[in-house]
Amino acid sequence: MITCTKCGEKNSDDTRFCTRCGWKLQSSQRGHPAGEIPADRPLTPFRHQGMPADVQRDLKRLIEASAYAVILAGVAVACWWQHLWWPLYPTVGALALLVFFRRL
Ligand SMILES: [Zn+2]
Repeated sequence: MITCTKCGEKNSDDTRFCTRCGWKLQSSQRGHPAGEIPADRPLTPFRHQGMPADVQRDLKRLIEASAYAVILAGVAVACWWQHLWWPLYPTVGALALLVFFRRL
């Protein structure tokens, strides 16, 4: 039995990700408390099963990037409609800053 360190859900020993919240589980049988394993060490064999946390993060980034693209397209269409182009420049600047600081 592995207890999820994030939500406390009890999972069976053969699961690698919490069935409730998707958190990566550390098996107690391997004798590695979560803190001893370096964060950058890849969890190779089970990485692409189900919907791992890193895939979910990539998906959220994609959705966020798409939302910015839709906002930009919306402003561009509005500018074209009004024949008024100046609002496009601060919008592009603001979105570029957002993308830069959120590391999309
Ligand atoms: Zn959990």
